[in-house]
Amino acid sequence: MSYSEIMIRYGELSTKGKNKKDFIRKLRSHVQSAISVFPKANVRSNHDRMYIELNGEDYEEVKEKLVNIFGIQSFSPVLQVDKNIEAIEQAVIQVVTELYTSGKTFKIGTRRADKDFPLDTMEINREVGAAVIQALPEIEAKMKNPDIMVNIEIRKQGVFLYTHKVQGAAGFPVGTGGKAMLMLSGGIDSPVAGYLTLKKGVEVEAVHFYSPPYTSPQALDKAKDLTAKLAKYAGSIHFISVPFTEIQEEIKNKTPDSYSMTLNRRFMMRITDRLREERNALAIVTGESIGQVASQTLESMAAINQVTESPVLRPLVSMDKTEIIDLAKKIDSYELSIQPYEDCCTVFAPQRPATKPDLDEVFRLEEKLDIDALVQRAIDGIKIEKIKVEDSTDYKVSEMFADLL
Ligand code: ATP
Ligand code: MG
Repeated sequence: MSYSEIMIRYGELSTKGKNKKDFIRKLRSHVQSAISVFPKANVRSNHDRMYIELNGEDYEEVKEKLVNIFGIQSFSPVLQVDKNIEAIEQAVIQVVTELYTSGKTFKIGTRRADKDFPLDTMEINREVGAAVIQALPEIEAKMKNPDIMVNIEIRKQGVFLYTHKVQGAAGFPVGTGGKAMLMLSGGIDSPVAGYLTLKKGVEVEAVHFYSPPYTSPQALDKAKDLTAKLAKYAGSIHFISVPFTEIQEEIKNKTPDSYSMTLNRRFMMRITDRLREERNALAIVTGESIGQVASQTLESMAAINQVTESPVLRPLVSMDKTEIIDLAKKIDSYELSIQPYEDCCTVFAPQRPATKPDLDEVFRLEEKLDIDALVQRAIDGIKIEKIKVEDSTDYKVSEMFADLL
């Protein structure tokens, strides 16, 4: 079937007025850039719907782009037909015949925005319904939960038909909720935390700590590839790499093993908070989930969190690992995350990290370190790049592991 346009229904619009305008404006710009590869397609919007005029572009291809855009509740491919009752009947019969198998029920629902159309909604429903029954004598009409629902919209510009809804990504358009810094490791959790943050309309910048030569260039590439996976939902994402070798060595040399994890995380948090301030973001996001590992007891989180007053968002806090893995698979980050490139935390991981770090002890140990200078040197060494979906070097990773799979 050759569709003429796609009708998009907005997601959860709990807020009104100016926020609604912002929602629609941002969504429209995301839709426009996502479909910029289809030059003939054209976007228009009003306060309750958005439409993509396909002008010959392939619906299935455009659909693949739309399903990743937050702020879209659902969408439907729409067929335009001539503005007279005979043409409507013909088209509806064709559509229903295509979908009908023995035993299926149907219903016609009409919305008439153009009051000049000679028939009212009741008359249209009745006439078109009768035409369908005449064409398919076995079929039955059913008012509640029909198998085939045919919607007819009579507008000034023409008559439009649609039958099915495709579920959208829901959430809010990215950018309507401000910006946060995502602490992105090479693990399974933080990309998922990033995805859930983007879903709520919050733009993210990825901050990744790496420790060459202890961590390999591939570990850094992996973090960038994970960022590219998230870019699918955001258009593009700034990736900030922070050299962390000096800090990890200092901690290893000057403090006991059991506290190194806590101290390392406190440095990461401080540096991320500085970057947050410099880059005008409001919050920090992590992939922490209660109880998963030593750093993720409440005591430990409290000790790490103590270095900042900024909100620290933990979208995975109450999720089980299996739920997180399901989401990681859904956003296609899982296979990448489980590639065995060690990030800086694994390399320096202590044998027995303190699961209940004592804050007074933390303060005593930190007196041995020149915190300000260490933070400053790390910040002086950052690199920032903008990562887009196409930047993924994914294929290289899978090629390298092809013989292991
Ligand atoms: P993940 O799967 O996201 O690596 P994890 O289960 O390994 O998480 P931790 O190692 O305790 O848990 O890390 C907790 C969080 O700290 C991560 O989710 C991430 O937000 C942040 N983090 C850890 N390592 C790094 C890193 N190298 N760069 C940036 N952030 C990091
Ligand atoms: Mg990790």
